[in-house]
Amino acid sequence: MAKFEYAPAPESRAVVSLRESYGLFIGGEFAPGVDGRAFKTISPATEEVLAEVTEAGPADVDRAVTAARKAYEHTWALMPGTERAKYLFRIARIVQERARELAVLESLNNGKPIRESRDVDIPLVAAHFFYYAGWADKLEYAGYGQAPRPLGVAGQVIPWNFPLLMLAWKIAPALACGNTVVLKPAETTPLTALAFAEICQQADLPPGVVNIITGAGETGRALVTHPGIDKVAFTGSTEVGKEIARACAPTRKKLTLELGGKAANIVFEDAPIDQAVEGIVNGIFFNQGHVCCAGSRLLVQESVYSEVMAALRRRLGTLRLGDPLDKNTDVGAINSAAQLAKIRELSQVGEAEGAERWSPPCDLPVKGFWFPPTVFTGVSQAHRIAREEIFGPVLSVLTFRTPAEAVEKANNTPYGLSAGIWTDKGSLILWMASRLRAGVVWANTFNKFDPTSPFGGYKESGYGREGGRHGLEAYLDV
Ligand code: NDP
Repeated sequence: MAKFEYAPAPESRAVVSLRESYGLFIGGEFAPGVDGRAFKTISPATEEVLAEVTEAGPADVDRAVTAARKAYEHTWALMPGTERAKYLFRIARIVQERARELAVLESLNNGKPIRESRDVDIPLVAAHFFYYAGWADKLEYAGYGQAPRPLGVAGQVIPWNFPLLMLAWKIAPALACGNTVVLKPAETTPLTALAFAEICQQADLPPGVVNIITGAGETGRALVTHPGIDKVAFTGSTEVGKEIARACAPTRKKLTLELGGKAANIVFEDAPIDQAVEGIVNGIFFNQGHVCCAGSRLLVQESVYSEVMAALRRRLGTLRLGDPLDKNTDVGAINSAAQLAKIRELSQVGEAEGAERWSPPCDLPVKGFWFPPTVFTGVSQAHRIAREEIFGPVLSVLTFRTPAEAVEKANNTPYGLSAGIWTDKGSLILWMASRLRAGVVWANTFNKFDPTSPFGGYKESGYGREGGRHGLEAYLDV
C-alpha cells in the first residue's frame, strides 16, 4: 500500500506565548531561585531553545514545602469538600478553554505528535480534574471511613513522557482529598507544568496549595527527602523508584511508585488481524513508545505469525514520522539526546544478540532526536530487548503455541504494569486476564485510559494505584 502524499498541515505556534525565562511557582507567585541557577529547555524536534527555566536548589525546595504546609494548615485542609471541588472544576474548565495552547506547548517541549497531545493528553487532563472534583465532597462514601482525613503535604515527581497528564494524575486526587502539593516536572519537559501554575493563578487557587519547582534529579531528591513532606508520589524509572523507596523507608512518609513496564501484547489466531495490527501499532508506536505500559513485547500465536507480520509491516510503511506540530504526523521526536542514545544502544544489543532488525523506509529529519519505528523478530526471552524497558519505538516479537505458553511468557518479566489480549473468545480473555500478573489488562484494545479506572503495577512496576476511587487511597490517612 503506497503512502498518500499529504500537504503539510502544521498547527500554529501562535497560540503559545512563551516567556524568555520562568521562575519557580511558590506560594501562588513566580519567584526567582535563591542561588540564581537556570537551565535551558528545548524542542527535541529541532533543538531550538524554547525558554530558560529555574533550577530549584535545597533552599527553594524548603520554601515550597513551607508554603505548601502553610496553605495546608490554614486554608486547604479546613475548607469543606464542596469548596475544594469548585476550584478543581474551575481548573478543569480552564484546561479545556486553553486546550489548544496546552497541546501545542506539550508537543513543542516533548516532541509528541499534536494529534496525540490534542486528542489524548489534554482531554484526559481535563477529565481527571473533572472526575476528582466530583469526589472532593463525597469522600465519606469512598469506602475509606466516615471522615477520611488528608495526609498533609505531598511531594510529587513526574517524568517527561506525559508531562501535563502525569501532573493531573498526581495533583487532582491530592487536592480533592485536601492535601497541598509541591510538584517537580521532568528536567526536559517543564513548560506545561509552568503553564499549569498560571492556570492555578487564573483559577484563584489559594496561594501555596500547588507549588511547582523545576530542576533536575537533584531537585527531585531534595524534594522527596525533605522532612516536611508527608507523602511522596513518583512516576519514572525503576532505578530511581528504588532509590526513593530506600530514602522513604526509615521515615513516616507514605509512598506510591509507578515505574517501568515490559508489557506483552498477545495476539491469538482467532483475533481480527487488521484490528489487532492497529492495536499493536498503538501499543508501541503511540508517543514514540515513551509509555510505561507500552506493548513492547508482541506475542503472536505461531499459526498466524506470517499473516500478522505481513500486515504489520504493511501498516508500518504508512506511518508518518516528522514535525510533531503537523496534524498528519504519527511518530514524533524522541524526547532527549540521552533517551535516543539509550534506544540506539539497546537496539544495537538486540542485533548483537542475534535478533533480526527491521524498519520501514523512512527519512529522519537532520536536526533533533529521531528514531524510526523498529521491529525485532527472532527474539528469545533471554534477549535484553525482551527483558529491559527500551522506552522507544521498538517492538520485540516472540511467538507461542498455546494459551498456557502465552501466560508463561507474558509473565516472564520483572515488571507487571499492563498486558493486551486479542481474541474472538470472551472465555479466553477471562482465562488469560485472571492469570496475567499485570495491573491493567486490555482486551481487544490497547493504551486506553480513563480517569475512573485505577492504574498501577505488580512486581517492579511499583505499588499503589492512580485513578478511580482507588486513587483516593494514596492521598488519605487510611
Ligand atoms: P527518571 O526516573 O530519572 O526521571 C523521572 C523523574 O524523577 C524526573 O522528574 C527526574 O528528574 C526525577 N529524578 C531523577 N533522579 C531522582 C532522584 N534521585 N530523586 C528524585 N527524583 C529524581 O527517568 P529518566 O528520565 O532518567 O528516564 C530513564 C528511563 O526511565 C527511561 O529510559 C525509561 O526506561 C524509564 N522511564 C519510565 C517511565 C515510566 O513512566 N515508567 C517514565 C520515564 C522514564 P530529571 O528529569 O531532571 O532527571
